[in-house]
Amino acid sequence: MSQADSIQSTNLDSLLKTKMPALGIDLGGTKLSAAVVSEGSIVDEPVQISTPDTAKKIIDAIVNLIAPFQKDNILAGVGIATAGIVNRDTGEITGSTGNLPGWTGTPLKTIIESRTMLPVEVENDANAAAFGESKARNLESKKCVIVVTLGTGIGGGMLIGGKLFHGAHWAAGECGHIRVSLENKRLCTCGLFDCWEAFGSANGMIMTARELATGISPEQSSLARDSAKVTTRLIVAAAEAGDIVAKKTLDLWHLHIAVGLVTLVHALDPDCIILAGGLSQIVDYQLLKELVLDRTLQRSGEQLEIYQSKLGNNAGMIGAAELLLDSLLTQRH
Ligand SMILES: [Zn+2]
Repeated sequence: MSQADSIQSTNLDSLLKTKMPALGIDLGGTKLSAAVVSEGSIVDEPVQISTPDTAKKIIDAIVNLIAPFQKDNILAGVGIATAGIVNRDTGEITGSTGNLPGWTGTPLKTIIESRTMLPVEVENDANAAAFGESKARNLESKKCVIVVTLGTGIGGGMLIGGKLFHGAHWAAGECGHIRVSLENKRLCTCGLFDCWEAFGSANGMIMTARELATGISPEQSSLARDSAKVTTRLIVAAAEAGDIVAKKTLDLWHLHIAVGLVTLVHALDPDCIILAGGLSQIVDYQLLKELVLDRTLQRSGEQLEIYQSKLGNNAGMIGAAELLLDSLLTQRH
């Protein structure tokens, strides 16, 4: 490479790294969202549609979503965060969740690249969110960062030395299925018993409230009035109003979250853990940290930080766009 080429290449690198926008797409079981991402933030409100019901229709919808953005912006490319297991080398979906039937086997990167003529990067949604959250806090130089998403289920992503860790079969980070009890008490959506998410997810919290409200009169707790209608929102509101069952539910939920985190801490000895997803907003971080430290070997626990998500619902889109920019930069060297 000549000196001029080298200077030009450096300028292009810094342009890609700092200024050039990329399109971030988040494909979930119910919603498909897209937004232009520049310098680690979304530029305008994301465009959102319902996720179509077949793989072919989803692909058409993604292409149709990209088209107007491509017309209005000079995009470095497209980053797609999708539910399911993704082979990052090929951009193929190698394992799917029940939420996206027929998605397994889709060579998503190749198809979208050939139909849009843009570079495309595809990543599992929790991994993409983990990458985005880590960059948002400038944690790339840390040895190990774990991001856990607390929502309808529990998902996660891990960064070792600033790079996403995928495991041997692209399935690392499926921490929602860590077993937290041997009692065969709760059946998880995956078909196994007593997974972390059967206790720590929104549905897990609701299940705990129903169990605790059993045998309690409606006068003693509002959650006993109609247990079929209990939601996480109702539990939080009832706890704030002093409802004893709701308060106990939230205490137990924090303990359930702590138990899973303790397993991750002992397996990976992370610098920090970031909690993302809707339920991360109702965590009492001081309480959770105490519960975790009480159950952790001193050496791994003493410096551990537990943070709340900075990117909220946009983490997948932002992370996927940043992975695209990162892959373009990496390929150049
Ligand atoms: Zn499970």
